[in-house]
This record gives sequence, C-alpha cells and structure tokens, in this order.
Amino acid sequence: PIYLDYNATTPCDEAVLEAMLPYFCTTFGNAASMFGLHGWNAYQAVEQARAQLAHSIGGQPKEIVFTSGATESNNLGIRGVFRACKNKGKHIITSSIEHPSILMTLKDLECKGARISYIDPLPDGSFDIERLKELITNETILITVMYANNELGTINPIHEIAAIAQKNDILFMSDATQALGKIHIDLQQCPIDILTCSAHKIYGPKGVGALYLRNQQGKRVVDLLPQITGGGSEQGMRGGTLNVPGIVGFGKAAEIACLALKNGELERIAQQRNKLEQELSILNNVQINGCTDSRLPHVSNISFKNTDGKKLLSMLKKSISVSTGSACSSSSLSPSHVLAAIGLPDDLAQATIRFSLGKKTTDQEIDFTLAEVKRVLRMTAPHLSYE
Ligand code: PMP
Repeated sequence: PIYLDYNATTPCDEAVLEAMLPYFCTTFGNAASMFGLHGWNAYQAVEQARAQLAHSIGGQPKEIVFTSGATESNNLGIRGVFRACKNKGKHIITSSIEHPSILMTLKDLECKGARISYIDPLPDGSFDIERLKELITNETILITVMYANNELGTINPIHEIAAIAQKNDILFMSDATQALGKIHIDLQQCPIDILTCSAHKIYGPKGVGALYLRNQQGKRVVDLLPQITGGGSEQGMRGGTLNVPGIVGFGKAAEIACLALKNGELERIAQQRNKLEQELSILNNVQINGCTDSRLPHVSNISFKNTDGKKLLSMLKKSISVSTGSACSSSSLSPSHVLAAIGLPDDLAQATIRFSLGKKTTDQEIDFTLAEVKRVLRMTAPHLSYE
C-alpha cells in the first residue's frame, strides 16, 4: 500500500540507520561512564548529536535534554514547570487542539490543583490570539501552544505568542513535534522557553525525543524538576542510561532535516500536496479543513460530505495508509477533538482523511491516490455526484 501518513511516523532514513549501527555492538559504552574509552566514545557521540539537534533549531547544545519521545518531553515540560513554579501560581493556558500528551497531562494536573484555560481555535483552526490576551492573570505560570497542529497542519503564530508571554513574564512552551524539519525554527529569533520534539517524525528512530530549555545569561529560565528520577543524567532533569544509538540517530536526522529545508525538498512535497488537494477540492461535497494560508507544506485534511465515512475509510485503507479521526489514536473510534473543536459534526469528522506526504512520496503515488479516492467515493456515495 501507499504510505501517506508521515505525520503518524516516518521511515528511518538509511543514512540515519547507518549512523546508529556502530553504537549497538561496537561503540556500546555507557555515555555516563566516561573514564574508560568505551564510555568516552559514547559520550562524544551523544554530545555530537546534541550539537546537531541544537543547531537545527538555533539553540545551544547545553539547552537540549534527551528523552524517550515528545510524549515524555511534554510531560517533563508541563509537570516540571508546574512543580518548579508552585509559589508563583497554578494557572496554565493552552489550546484545546493540543496533542493528547499535553491535554492529558494538564488534565492530571487539574486534579493536583492546577487551573487550566483552554483556548478554542477559530473555525479555520487558527489560534485566537485575542483570547490569549484576555486569559492572562498574575497567577499564570505557563502558556503552552503547539507550533503546528498534527491533524490540520495549521501553523500557530508562535512569534506573537512568545512575545506576549515574554512581555508578561510567563514561560512559553511549544510542542514542535510536527514542525521540526518541515518549517524553519530559529530559537534565536523567537523567545520560546521550552520546545519539545521527537525523532521518529523526522526520519529518525522511534522512542527518542528531546526538550529544549532556554538558557539566559548562562542560567536556565526554569529548573525543571525531573519526572524520571535516578542518577544525574541530562543535567539532573532526566534519570536513566542514555539511548546512545537512538540519540545518535536523532542528531543525524535533525542534520538531514535541516538540509532538506534548504534544498527544495519541502517545496516539491508541497506541490504534490497541492495537486492532491486541488484535484479533490474541485469535486462536489469536498471540504478542506484548516486555514490554508499558514499550514505545513505536506499536510491536507479533507472531509467528504454525505458519504459513509467508515465504509470510505475501510475501503481506502486496503491500498493507502492515511489517518482519520484522532490520528494518534486511530484505534479509538471517537471523533477527533481537533475536528470537533473546529465545528465538524461527528459524522463529517468520521468521513475526514488526513493525508500527510513525505520525502518518499512520488508523483505516481499521488495520481494513484487521486484515482483510488474517486473510485471509492463512487462506491460509497453512489447517489451523489462527486464528479
Ligand atoms: N505531539 C505531537 C503534536 C505529535 O504529533 C506527537 C506524535 N503523534 C506527539 C506529541 C508524541 O510524540 P511521541 O510519539 O514521540 O511520543
């Protein structure tokens, strides 16, 4: 089958795998045991990866904490700030279309006394900046808003939000899991305090992520209390022996992603996405979700009206891997919270597909996908014209 689900995960780049391989059996040392050469070599490799990742986002190596993925990074960022800033306040502002690793963590903190304000998106999925300004209080300790949405691909006004947070002396965190490697991120130009990301969305291995924590005048903006305790690794913010091969892979993947942003690869993918979207949107009963002015280049979220969504998707999945409903937990049949937040009724949400393209996507695959979607539509909605 054709793979158009690159927001769910990506295949590991061959060069990434090659960079990782020596760190399984040959250079297998523990990066925390630096007295012997084995450990020293592993440590050096981790530090190189730290520098590669930092460079790709305009940060410094010492601002990077490696974790097991963006889910853990989001937990560390939110729980770490909540515990570190207890004396200042317990109010956190977020958007209602964040990834579950943010929303569920905040829900848990609500049970522990946090007050959370959720900002609903505007109908086109874009961020309501005026609402943010209204919600800020003296008690607000954190604003956490994703860089780009995983389901719609919409890019939030991160620079504006960061400036508002900075003016009000509030920490600003952004989940950049879907933005890294897809759009240019420069933390020198944008005062984000905490940024989270994951290797497996950028052609790196699964089970590795990172958290960027800003240093200002040589000092961390906040001392995140670790969520995984034990040992002093990652500057005391995350215990546990480092996943050296995974971290090496993440560094290499970040380096390659940085190059891809410069060499026109994303423009090529955007052209394929635009072709797919244009040819489907001229059909009747088709609706593109999410503001198209500020969107990741490789994502298209499309609803098919007046058709049996479940049937459509079950027929399509035989030939094309895509996402529907809640992309990250498509095992759950409840309609996506993102689509509900932009006002899609349940039945339309069920008949919605997220196409996410990637570097292996070919023009032929797009042509095949177009033909296949049209064929399946004719079968699932024969009484209606999609022509
Ligand atoms: N945040 C966003 C926006 C995501 O799309 C994902 C992955 N679906 C995550 C966080 C979680 O990342 P990981 O799989 O590395 O835990």
